[in-house]
This record gives sequence, structure tokens and C-alpha cells, in this order.
Amino acid sequence: MKIMMKAPAKINLTLDVLHKRADGYHEVEMIMTTVDLADRIELEPLKKDEIKIISHNRFVPDDKRNLAYQAAMLLKERYGIRSGVSIGIEKVIPVAAGLAGGSSDAAATLKGLNKLWNLGLSLDELAEIGAEIGSDVSFCVYGGTALATGRGEKIQHLPSPPNCWVVLAKPTIGVSTAEVYKNLKINGLRHPDTRAMMAAIETKNYDEMCAHLGNVLESVTLKLYPEVAQIKEQMERFGADAVLMSGSGPTVFGLMRHDSRMHRVCNGLRGFCDQVYAVRLLGEGMPID
Ligand code: ATP
Repeated sequence: MKIMMKAPAKINLTLDVLHKRADGYHEVEMIMTTVDLADRIELEPLKKDEIKIISHNRFVPDDKRNLAYQAAMLLKERYGIRSGVSIGIEKVIPVAAGLAGGSSDAAATLKGLNKLWNLGLSLDELAEIGAEIGSDVSFCVYGGTALATGRGEKIQHLPSPPNCWVVLAKPTIGVSTAEVYKNLKINGLRHPDTRAMMAAIETKNYDEMCAHLGNVLESVTLKLYPEVAQIKEQMERFGADAVLMSGSGPTVFGLMRHDSRMHRVCNGLRGFCDQVYAVRLLGEGMPID
């Protein structure tokens, strides 16, 4: 039996950092939503008791550094699974991009193995296990739209945001989330209005959603990597209604309602940025399997 799963990317409509905790993590408040750009995960049982990662992307580790490997290992150890599994990862989401690709692969692996190994775990239980792998994995287990707090693992579900196009543009650089947090100065940050964004989502008010996009990590990444600021400017110039960096970057996304604007922004970015995607919000959560 083979199991195929989709592992969609997320974007941050808001990302706020409240303070640094005694345990070294940052206390965050983020509104995240899934978009229809997804990796494909293929799970197949192996007779030999091993976890095998098959990926043809040179940026994706094929050993225990892979978050999907860690997901399988956690379930194997916790539930005493003696059989092996091959995890095929067809990468579509750019790597180290601020789109939670690795976390989403781990979440899809947890959900797929829950079926393959008949574990009968609920989404809440899988999300709790996911939090041990990484702060974004819990959100990725549910998908949809949510407010994530704590270090990102506490999830409050939100309704879907107003429908629109999302143009994603990733410059060739990869950004380390750890490095961005290390360089963040919490004093003097311009915090996004998270409550106003929640209200915009609840009332499906597109203009208000655009007005309240905000990400405090831009203060670090835009300084370290000027090309990210340039892409933001280009997107604005070509007519995106609102533009923001996702996660710790470097991917920038622009929102637009109309097809014509979406085409104009995509065409404008060609030649300037090699990875450009036009996708839709999947805020309601997608049929992930
Ligand atoms: P986030 O938005 O959660 O910070 P990201 O999108 O910035 O994540 P990822 O694409 O998850 O970053 O990759 C970050 C690093 O994690 C990569 O450089 C890679 O070495 C490692 N990694 C581990 N597992 C995976 C995976 N399944 N896919 C991609 N990268 C992975």
C-alpha cells in the first residue's frame, strides 16, 4: 500500500515577536494561512526496519536532519513500530524560503504514517507530536488559517481569509531562521496589529487584510539581504495591493484581487527573480490527502 500526501506551504499574514523567553525561544504571535503550492510526499512500507528518504533536490537532506525523517522516527519510537518506510519527497516549495516547506513535509509524514501504521491518532495528537519536531509543524498538521502563539505551536483556528491571488517571489538566496532571530532587536519594533488582522479575516474584508499585513522579521532580513527589499519594491511598482515577506524570508508575497494585476506582477518580476509562483489562498484547509 502506497500513501500519497500533499504538503502545502504557508505564508504569514502577520508575524510578531513579543519577547525572548527564559528557555531561549521567542514568544511569537503569527497569523498563518496555507497556499496551494505543495510538496508531494509518497510513503511506502519497507520490509527492512529503516527510514529511507528519497528526494532529488540537492538542498534537501536525506538523513536524520530531514524533518520528515524525524517525524517517522518519533512515531516509530513512541509506538514501537518495527517495520520500515520509504519517504519520497517531491519538492515544489522552495527550500529555506520562509514557507515552512520542511515543517509541512513533516506534518504530511505524520498524517500519512498515522494511516499506514493504523495508529488512530487525532489531529490534535499529531499536532502535539509535531511540536517536538519544530514550531511550525503543529500549524502544518491542521493547515487552513490560524493564530499561532507560544513559540508557534499553540494553534487557534480562524476562518478563511478573503479570496485573492498570492504571488510568491523567492530570490536565489536561502535564509537561516536561526540567524534572523539572533539578529533581531526586540526594542523599538513596529508591531503588527494582530487583532485588526483577525477582525479583517473574520469579516472577510480584503482591504483591511491588506492594510494590516506585518512582519517584524523584515527589520532584520531586509537589512541583511537588500535583494528582498528590492523585490518588495518591484511588486509594489507592478501593482500588488499589499506586499510582505513571509516568515524569516527571503520569499516575498504580494496580494491582488484581479487576474490582470496578477499577470502584470508576475511578468514584471520575470528576469528579475527566478522563482515566481502565482497561487491561491487555501485558507479553509485543503483536502490534504
Ligand atoms: P520555516 O518557514 O518553517 O522557517 P523554511 O521554509 O524557511 O521554514 P525549510 O524549507 O523548511 O525552511 O528548510 C530549512 C532547512 O531545513 C533547509 O535548509 C534544509 O537543510 C532543512 N530541511 C530538513 N528537512 C527538510 C525538508 N523536508 N525539506 C526542505 N528542507 C528540509
